[in-house]
Amino acid sequence: MTIQERITQLKTKRHAVILVHNYARGDVQDIGDVVGDSLGLSRQAARTPAEVIVFCGVHFMAETAKIISPEKLVIVPDPNAGCPLANMVTVRELRAMKAKHPDAVVVTYVNSSAAVKAESDVCCTSANAVNVVKSIPEDREVLFVPDRNLGYYVSKQLGREMILWDGYCPTHQRIVPEQVTRMKQAHPEALLVCHPECPWETLALADHVGSTTGILDFCAASDATAFIIGTELGILHRLRKENPGKTFLEVSPLADCPNMKLSTLEKVLWSLEDLVHEVTVPADVIERARGAIDRMLEIS
Ligand code: SF4
Repeated sequence: MTIQERITQLKTKRHAVILVHNYARGDVQDIGDVVGDSLGLSRQAARTPAEVIVFCGVHFMAETAKIISPEKLVIVPDPNAGCPLANMVTVRELRAMKAKHPDAVVVTYVNSSAAVKAESDVCCTSANAVNVVKSIPEDREVLFVPDRNLGYYVSKQLGREMILWDGYCPTHQRIVPEQVTRMKQAHPEALLVCHPECPWETLALADHVGSTTGILDFCAASDATAFIIGTELGILHRLRKENPGKTFLEVSPLADCPNMKLSTLEKVLWSLEDLVHEVTVPADVIERARGAIDRMLEIS
């Protein structure tokens, strides 16, 4: 029996569903019941009748699934899969910043811990961040947490000043304009498509800026046949699989998130065998974080 067959067999026995992020390893994406972005996966988790959710992504994503489906057992193949961007803001730091700006509306990107979400007024994703900020009255200050690149992009889109937390995704920060320009010169026929976690100087060169789902939709619908993909490399697997007639070029071999690659087939199998590693979130944190997520869903 192959490892994929053993996983499928155990999945049925455990009444489990396997959710896989767009940045995960290709072979892990291939055994996923659903492959998608972090919030989309959590919403799928809420809809499934499965009792166990195996989340192949990073810790904050599994926490979000737990917030949305607190009655389900959420497990991750590797408990060390964290997110450096999410770790760039702690509850203590955020409270100190809120004390300095008591009237500011705290808008928190979903790439954050459950505890930080619980301290926030509203969450946002890379897909709806512009609309979420737009919904806040102009006379209110906005504190945007924790991704400064996404925050700056939103600020430019809306022509609105915001207080930006000084966090960033190390993987997207490595997608620099010099590299992008070299790629564009080598492939003048290709469109440059970037995620808004990239630095602003890189986004300014892009033909399209979008979330992971936005990038997948744009490339599928476009008449162009070649694309330079300015986001984490894992998404290339799905782009190539779903668009066999098109060419997708990696912007840089450095755009590789080591945390997203910690979920392997072997670890998925082990987590299903032993029903480990469980992700828990305290009930009061779930309640407050859920409020910030629900406010985002109402807006978007
Ligand atoms: Fe975090 Fe960036 Fe890795 Fe996503 S790609 S999990 S934001 S470090």
